[in-house]
Amino acid sequence: MLENATEELVREVLAEYKRKDPICDCPNCEDDVVAMVLNVLPPKYFLSSATSGEKIAHTLDKKLRFEALIKISEMVPVVCQRNHPEKQ
Ligand SMILES: [Zn+2]
Repeated sequence: MLENATEELVREVLAEYKRKDPICDCPNCEDDVVAMVLNVLPPKYFLSSATSGEKIAHTLDKKLRFEALIKISEMVPVVCQRNHPEKQ
C-alpha cells in the first residue's frame, strides 16, 4: 500500500511540538492538524526500489521539518477554534 512518507515526518514534528505546547487531546484535533499540514506540504511517495536510507533521509530532512513546524504552529489554533468554538 502506498503511504505519503511526509505524514510520518509531520507526526514526528507534531510530537516534538506537543512536548513544548500541548494541543487539545480530543481524538480529532491532532489528526486534523496533520491533515491540514499534509494538504500544504508536497507529498512524498517512494518507489519499491527505494532504500531505507532514502526513507530515513526524507523523514530527517531539516528544511521540510522546519516547514512542517511552521505550518503546525499556524494550524493548531485554526483547528482548535474550528473543532471547539465554544472554548474561545
Ligand atoms: Zn480537540
